Amino acid sequence: MTTAPAPGERPGSAVVVGAGMAGLLAARTLADHVAEVVVVERDELAPGSRPRRGVPQGRHAHLLLGRGREVIEGLLPGFTGEVVRRGGVLADVPGDGRILLGGGLLLRYRSGFDVVFASRPLLEQVVRERVGSWPGVRLQDRTDAVGLVASAGRVTGLRTRRREDGHEEVLAADLVVNAAGRSPSAVGWLADLGYPVPRQESVGIDLTYVTRTYRRRPADLDGGSFLLVSPEPPDLRGATVLVREGGLWIVALTGLLGERPPEDADGFRRFAESLPVRDLADLLDGAEPVGEPSLAHFSGSTRRRFEELRDVPEGYLVCGDAISSFNPVYGQGMTVAAEESLLLGRELERGLPGLPRRFYRAAAKVVDVPWTMAVTSDLRHPGVRGRRGVGTRVLNAYVVRLVRGARHDRVLADAFVRTNNLVASPLSLLRPSVASRVVLAGLPRRPGRWRSRR
Ligand SMILES: Cc1cc2nc3c(=O)[nH]c(=O)nc-3n(C[C@H](O)[C@H](O)[C@H](O)COP(=O)(O)OP(=O)(O)OC[C@H]3O[C@@H](n4cnc5c(N)ncnc54)[C@H](O)[C@@H]3O)c2cc1C
Repeated sequence: MTTAPAPGERPGSAVVVGAGMAGLLAARTLADHVAEVVVVERDELAPGSRPRRGVPQGRHAHLLLGRGREVIEGLLPGFTGEVVRRGGVLADVPGDGRILLGGGLLLRYRSGFDVVFASRPLLEQVVRERVGSWPGVRLQDRTDAVGLVASAGRVTGLRTRRREDGHEEVLAADLVVNAAGRSPSAVGWLADLGYPVPRQESVGIDLTYVTRTYRRRPADLDGGSFLLVSPEPPDLRGATVLVREGGLWIVALTGLLGERPPEDADGFRRFAESLPVRDLADLLDGAEPVGEPSLAHFSGSTRRRFEELRDVPEGYLVCGDAISSFNPVYGQGMTVAAEESLLLGRELERGLPGLPRRFYRAAAKVVDVPWTMAVTSDLRHPGVRGRRGVGTRVLNAYVVRLVRGARHDRVLADAFVRTNNLVASPLSLLRPSVASRVVLAGLPRRPGRWRSRR
């Protein structure tokens, strides 16, 4: 049971660093608890939905998992409808596409489970417009956050510098939330104040993304909305193809462990032809490219263990990618940011004292699930650098069987889809009705039947 905060324990103002998904959603939650929220963003937040410098990943395929959509819809009712009104597409997963993983195609059936497909800039724009006009919230763009102001064990404000004229200012606040993404500020600012910094865990995957956009034709992917190709060891090559607004496909080729997809059109096509399914090569055949290719490199999944810190200042916390960022092919980052904004609200109900430690402990539990899923799956590749305990090996053996069964068994496919969308707990994969089918799925079947490479 939570107790209502005593007068004076409720914060009056908050400052959020970063107007990415984590910062915007945190600001939306904070607006329920404080009179004034200022979101400080270094980029210009121009109207419209173009990629921007501070979010370079915005040029690449983004998929909002079912749980993320559910949470954002709860915080910003009408979010999905607004994305769709602007051209986003609501599609049934797995019914409206093809998913190749574990060396086979996931059963295609209508689950009634809708996922929204749209570019990252559009998703962010809809969230930004709604949060920016929320009572009590102000977005302050073209401003760098440069450090914290603290006294007597408590952060009392944020030092900022305006980009256009270098004007410096301190924004006083009862709470400063750092949602600046993977930048070092989240821990650097703690160190500047003389506090210990969190331990960092990393799993090196050396992933390269090359993304191109194409005009969509009605017959592409047999009328489907997406194609996901997850590399099965020893393969290192994968692909994510998603429908997006504007009648376009966003096509990302991915290479793990130094495998680098080419950016030029011919090389891009040849890489697509080397995948175990023909679907993407067929789509690219005669497809009209739109714009230039983009390249991104992602060295590895990282997790900062803030929950282990005993000595943290009051009035300052960190969320989003600044706590954890995962191999992007699993599409979890925005959903985790959304979950953390819910947690923030729950912990704010209990007042300010002790908020950072309570928040970090709760966030660690949220992060555990996607982290374990992403890292365990990546560790199947022998070249991926990370600790492989007995638990990892057992879990992988179980999931390999489950995925094998999910090619033809709807119960297993459904369990897999819901867990991967972070809608169901991974523990649901151990329910007797699922586990008994996983055992059967381990029995040998005819190999190679799924391959659609021609
Ligand atoms: C290639 C790629 C593909 C991805 N695909 C998916 C996907 O399909 N689905 C998914 O859910 N997630 C995906 N992600 C992850 C997702 O983008 C992030 O997890 C999510 O956006 C949350 O990020 P964030 O808001 O914490 O940080 P960011 O999105 O990095 O935002 C940080 C913000 O802080 C601002 N900022 C930084 N420093 C300062 C400062 N000092 N002062 C002022 N402002 C500052 C930046 O300009 C930026 O606007 C992908 C990531 C990558 C790299």
